[in-house]
Amino acid sequence: MNLENSIMVCGFGVSGQAAARLAAYLGKHIVIVDENSTREMREQAAEIRKQYPGVKMDLYLSWKEEITLPRCELAVMSPGVRRGTPLFRAAERMAPRVASELEFALEHISCPIAAITGTNGKTTTTELTTAILRASAIRAESAGNIGHALSDCAIEVCKRRVNYLVIEVSSFQIDTISKFPSHPAVILNIASDHIDRHGGMDAYAETKFRIFSGSLDAPPSARILHSGLLEYKKRFLPPGLPVTTFSATDHEADFTLENGIIRFRGREILPFAESALKGLHNAENIMAALALVRALLGEDAIFASCVRDAIRAFLPDAHRMEVFLEKNGIKYINDSKATNPHAVNAAVATFASGRNIILILGGLDKDMDFSELAPSLPHIRQAFLIGQCKEKIHEAIADKVKCKMSSSLESAVKDACSIAKPGDCVMLSPATASMDMFKNYAERGCRFKELVTALLTAAQQSS
Ligand code: ADP
Repeated sequence: MNLENSIMVCGFGVSGQAAARLAAYLGKHIVIVDENSTREMREQAAEIRKQYPGVKMDLYLSWKEEITLPRCELAVMSPGVRRGTPLFRAAERMAPRVASELEFALEHISCPIAAITGTNGKTTTTELTTAILRASAIRAESAGNIGHALSDCAIEVCKRRVNYLVIEVSSFQIDTISKFPSHPAVILNIASDHIDRHGGMDAYAETKFRIFSGSLDAPPSARILHSGLLEYKKRFLPPGLPVTTFSATDHEADFTLENGIIRFRGREILPFAESALKGLHNAENIMAALALVRALLGEDAIFASCVRDAIRAFLPDAHRMEVFLEKNGIKYINDSKATNPHAVNAAVATFASGRNIILILGGLDKDMDFSELAPSLPHIRQAFLIGQCKEKIHEAIADKVKCKMSSSLESAVKDACSIAKPGDCVMLSPATASMDMFKNYAERGCRFKELVTALLTAAQQSS
């Protein structure tokens, strides 16, 4: 095999399959390796063979350490294949270079890109930025962590079906890239999350700042930061490097929220209340999207009426502060996507009015610091704790908030609904991942909505 023309794809899940499609599109010899072998994997491989009949493909499904792999020019690692595992080490031995799926795809994309990272708000900001670009008559697509693998988008860009990409980038994806390519990028916020994989807050923050590593010579409009992150900037970027800032509370930032108006350097863009998004954190997501559009299309673009129309028309996704029911003056809110304390604080701040929040939280821990829930505690009437780390959360908050350990989501919902009064919010905002009890956050959110709806329907029928 010619080393120069072969790509090893390690891990054949969603992103590995996309990387294999891009490699096939590029006419490379593909070596697919996965420790598992599922029907879906075999079908996907067959599909690629069918679509690209001239492409050579070697399949190593059910791979074991003792099976020697061929030498390749590059190994593309799926996010599920962790550093130090037998497959990762085998790939390092057989390829002179190892790259993430994101890095591999970025190398083959020639169109303008906006990149978004942060602990919370990536999906919302990515989708909003794409919506604004589309309203500005641009063929833009959201990609990355958000569903569309970047490798698939790279093919669309090569075929000229897409000419701008907005990519959501997780810290795991940045972690494997030594120098992120030069593109306008934003860090929305940095708070405790995924500390189990990064080994501490500093390492986590340093990883996020690497999104600017290729843009140090770019104009300041391309480096966009929440102004609350300026202390980190001093540590992770060269001294004096100018950046563009945004904040809903700091009036010194470039993008601000003053008297309910979103502004850029004092100039009005639009009243925040005209958007369907709620909460100061969402005002910041809008500012971040505007800052990216400014970096891509120039300053005048953000004052165009089509931009305001796109912001007004934008609706948040499900499972993010979703008020799915309102009955007898009580709001029922599904915020299952809040998988860390920082996101919970954003939701509680949005709906708090005294001590009116009845909160269900808990699930799978990621080594998080639950003392970060402190700003929410004065607003929580009672917390119902579920899942694997309920004791740890109890330890962190029980001296300030009345807590009850619940044996299941069902019993938590029952107890939470039974104490709710007019003016209260019954909210699932778990501060944790879901995989101890559910397939994913969406399944958890849907289950919560089902349980609440069934309970209220039964109560209505018996009254
Ligand atoms: P991500 O893709 O980073 O997980 P999402 O837009 O899906 O972000 O939102 C995840 C959770 O974080 C939701 O509960 C949402 O209400 C909350 N959230 C969204 N934007 C922010 C922000 N800027 N700051 C804090 N929390 C946020």
